[in-house]
Amino acid sequence: MIRTRFAPSPTGFLHLGGARTALFAWAYARRHRGTFILRIEDTDVARSTPEAVQAILDAMAWLGLDCDEGPFYQMQRMDRYRAVVADMLERGLAYRCYLPPAELDALRAAQTARGEKPRYDGRWRPERAAGLVPPPGILPVIRFRNPLEGSVAWDDRVKGRIEISNGELDDLVIARPDGTPTYNFCVVVDDLDMRITHVVRGDDHVNNTPRQINIIRALGADPPVYAHLPTVLGEDGQKLSKRHGAVSVMQYEEMGYLPEAMLNFLARLGWAHGDAEIFSRDELVEWFDLDAISPSPARFDTAKLAWVNQEQMKRLPGDELGRRLVAYLQRAGLDPAAGPDPGAAAALLRDRVSTLVEMADAARYFYATPHPDAQAVAAQVGAANRPALAELAAEFETLAWTREAILAAVKAAAARHGLKPGQVMMPLRLLVCGMLQTPAIDAVLALLGRQATLSRLGAALAP
Ligand code: GLU
Repeated sequence: MIRTRFAPSPTGFLHLGGARTALFAWAYARRHRGTFILRIEDTDVARSTPEAVQAILDAMAWLGLDCDEGPFYQMQRMDRYRAVVADMLERGLAYRCYLPPAELDALRAAQTARGEKPRYDGRWRPERAAGLVPPPGILPVIRFRNPLEGSVAWDDRVKGRIEISNGELDDLVIARPDGTPTYNFCVVVDDLDMRITHVVRGDDHVNNTPRQINIIRALGADPPVYAHLPTVLGEDGQKLSKRHGAVSVMQYEEMGYLPEAMLNFLARLGWAHGDAEIFSRDELVEWFDLDAISPSPARFDTAKLAWVNQEQMKRLPGDELGRRLVAYLQRAGLDPAAGPDPGAAAALLRDRVSTLVEMADAARYFYATPHPDAQAVAAQVGAANRPALAELAAEFETLAWTREAILAAVKAAAARHGLKPGQVMMPLRLLVCGMLQTPAIDAVLALLGRQATLSRLGAALAP
C-alpha cells in the first residue's frame, strides 16, 4: 500500500512550488489507490501561524488535493518525539553531548581556518567520552550516533542514485538542550510512524536525506523511497520568489484561474506524459508516475498558464463555467441576476478571454448599463448612419428576438441606407455594450434581450 505525505511548514501561504510538491505526492497516492497524508510541520513556533495553516488548507481544498489522513500537527506529537529520543539514548543510538556552544563555535572556526568542512568532531561519542566529565552548568544536546564507516545511498526516483560517505556527516543534534526535538528528527519519526512509503518533496531536502536514512536504519526500519523534486524557476530563470509577483496559489484563484487549469499547469512543471498538455484531474491520476518527473528545474511560464486556463475553460460545460463566473461577477460589483444566465454569457465569451476575471469584465454590459464615452459615440454615430440605427431600433420592438432575425435586420438596415454592415454593427456595439470589442453583435443582442437593447438604444438615439 502506497502512503505519501505532504509536509508543509506553515510559515506563509502555499506557494507554487509547494503546491506542485503536494500535487505530485497526492497524484502518486491516488494513482496507486494509496493514502495521502497531510502533516503540518509547525515546530518552528516563531514562524508558524494558524493563518498560514488555514491558507494551506484553503489552497489544497481549492485545488482538490484531498487528504486521507491528517492534518497531523508536529507540535501535538512532542511527547512521541521525546519518547523516541529517550529510547535512542537507552539503546545507545544517541548520546548526550556537553560541548559548550562557544567551544563548538571555536572548533568550527578552527576547521574553517584550516580549509576543512566545519563539523562536530564526535568527542562525546560514548566510545570516546570515557573519563570526560560534563562541565558544570551545561545542558547537553542529544546527538545521533551516525555510522563512522561506509556510506549511505538511495535511488532517488527523480535524481537517480545518490551516495554520501558517512565521513561527510557529523552526529546530528536530535534534541536541543531544553529537550525539544530538531526538525530532521521529527521528520524521521513521523515518516516512520505514518508508515510513509514514498517521500515526495523539494530537492532543498536532499542534504537532509542521508542523515534521515541513517536514523531510520538505526531504528531498525527500512527507509521510504525518495523523490526529490527540482526547483521551480521564474520566467527569468531565477528561483521563484515574491519578486516574480503572484506566488501564492490562491492569488491565481483571485486572478480568475480555474483550479482545473492550475492543477494541469502545476503538473506540467517538471512532469510530462507524452506530449499531453491539456488534461483533466482524472487523466493526471491515471497517468502520473514519479519516473516521468524531469530532474532539471521547471520554469514557470505565465503565457502558458493563461493558455492552459483558456483551454480548461473551453472544456468546462457552459452551465458549470457560468456557475464559476457568478462569483467573479459579484467581485466585479455586478449583479448576476440583473442580466442573462451567466452560463450563456460564459459560453459566448469563453473563447475571447483567458481568465474568469477577464470574462467578468467582458460580460459587464450584460449586467450593468454601460455609459459609452461621448466622443466615441460622436465618432461612430453620425448623419450617415443615425437614420439606419433609428429604423433598426423601431424594428427591434417587434422583431422575433433571435440571432438570425437580428442579423438579417441589421444587414437589411445597412443595405437600405447604402452602408456597410460594420457601419451599423460598430455603433450598435458602442451604444448597447459601451465598447467596440464584443462577440458577434447579433449573438450579444439576442442574449442581452429586447428590453435592455431597446432602452440602451432609445437613450442613445433620443433626439
Ligand atoms: N516541512 C518541509 C518544508 O516545508 C518539508 C519536509 C519534508 O517534506 O520532509 O519544506
